[in-house]
Amino acid sequence: MGFPGSRSKETRVWLLRSDEARFGEAIATVFPTATWRCRHGNRLDREPDHMFEGVLDALECGGGVHAFLPLPVPGEPGMRGIPAVQLLRSDLRHNEQGRYFRIGRVAIRWFEPDLSPVMHQLVTRQTNEVWRALRSVTSPAHVVRMLDGKEVAGRRIGPDALRLVQAEGLPLSDWTDAVMYRPA
Ligand SMILES: [Zn+2]
Repeated sequence: MGFPGSRSKETRVWLLRSDEARFGEAIATVFPTATWRCRHGNRLDREPDHMFEGVLDALECGGGVHAFLPLPVPGEPGMRGIPAVQLLRSDLRHNEQGRYFRIGRVAIRWFEPDLSPVMHQLVTRQTNEVWRALRSVTSPAHVVRMLDGKEVAGRRIGPDALRLVQAEGLPLSDWTDAVMYRPA
């Protein structure tokens, strides 16, 4: 809530593809008419070109980086500048020490003055539904910073991601490779 009227919500999360699919299914259960959008490049002002029922299809079309769920659902044709939930994909990567799991996130931001009061309330309510769906398919990630051994709160992890992390003792990271965690 940095600026007056700025509304935002973000949860950092580790998900495998199957976990992403679970999240998409949970969203589809709450919002049967929801459509995911791809985004090509970083032009935030550009209306996305492609609509998908499945989150994985939208992710793939957008180069595997992120997919967007515009709110409210259903939208109105031609609506511009509406908020969208971003699913930024987490990623299995390599460095000199070996394989690690880089975090992704689910996030939304909008400016209350940009929306009518009714629309703001609707987006707020649907945002809460999206996060309820996210919580239903993930669990809190119990991880400790490798630097100081302190537990880091607020991050979540999908069931298949958790199984992989536990089976391999896979290190986890935020977006900078320097900050690494281990499963607690
Ligand atoms: Zn596309």
